[in-house]
Amino acid sequence: MPLRGRARDGDQTALHEGLGQVKAKKAVVIQSLTSIHFLIAYACSAECDHCFMWGSPRRHSGMTAAQVDGFLDQVVSLGTVTRVCAEGGECFVHYDLLLHFLRGAARRGLSVSALTNASWVRSRAQAEERVAELMAAGLSSLGVSTDEWHRKAIPVERVDTLLEVCAAAGLAANRMETRLEGVMFRGRAAERLAPFAPTRPAGAFTACPHEKLAAPSRLHLDCYGRLHLCQGLCLGAGDSAASCAAYDAAAHPIVRLLLDGGPHALARFAAGRGFDLQAGYADACHLCYRAREFLRADFLDLLGPDEMYGDRPPRCAPHQE
Ligand code: SF4
Repeated sequence: MPLRGRARDGDQTALHEGLGQVKAKKAVVIQSLTSIHFLIAYACSAECDHCFMWGSPRRHSGMTAAQVDGFLDQVVSLGTVTRVCAEGGECFVHYDLLLHFLRGAARRGLSVSALTNASWVRSRAQAEERVAELMAAGLSSLGVSTDEWHRKAIPVERVDTLLEVCAAAGLAANRMETRLEGVMFRGRAAERLAPFAPTRPAGAFTACPHEKLAAPSRLHLDCYGRLHLCQGLCLGAGDSAASCAAYDAAAHPIVRLLLDGGPHALARFAAGRGFDLQAGYADACHLCYRAREFLRADFLDLLGPDEMYGDRPPRCAPHQE
């Protein structure tokens, strides 16, 4: 099946080859893996300061219907995944593709959920129509984001309306509200919010507090075929589905450092290559993100894509041993 669409050509060629390898293997080594979150679009209807990637209306990269079909087949072939979720960016910016994803996932026997910021809600009648359509397509639950940053772009009344409509229709839905103390300072949040947060010494961050890097139960999959352990930290690039079958946390050059000594160990490794290790960071993710951002040029397969690291290009020249 040719993979066509918005992702870059080189990535797609490699992805196609990688999927072929996985098909041949028909097995996944990550037995803990039970769910895959599809980053349907990097585009978003908002551009929040606390975003842990760099979602924006100015981004246009996202999956095609052909990619969705191919990825869903792969997810099933992995053998351990029972749940998938549609997110982004904002997955409702490509509503027809979202429906295609839901139907395809349901047809393959997968439980399917979605996340949204409710920006698309124009009226109760329209929300009722869409919720009915989404449920018929197979949607089993919906998470709705709203907080002080989302509300700068999206009126909370849209969220309230959507949650009321879901309740009336019998669709499980929950309000997802991030508070400042819950912000993870990576992606745009590292740039926009971390400078105003209190800091702790870099040496305090000796473990990843959020992700099960050695045995993940959930991965994110994007339009480049990258499987993300954490946003911007990948199993591999292009042939990342094949990388999933071969994943060895102890051999992954970034993950093994995070497992050994958390973001501080990663930052010390980066410092050996010229990274300017500051005295204090807002949280573990802030230190991890800054070190990864610095290391990108040396590990482009594992640290990317640009949509996770903003508009600043990786350092120009790869590190020379
Ligand atoms: S940014 Fe680093 S420390 Fe934070 S959750 Fe991701 S891998 Fe863990």
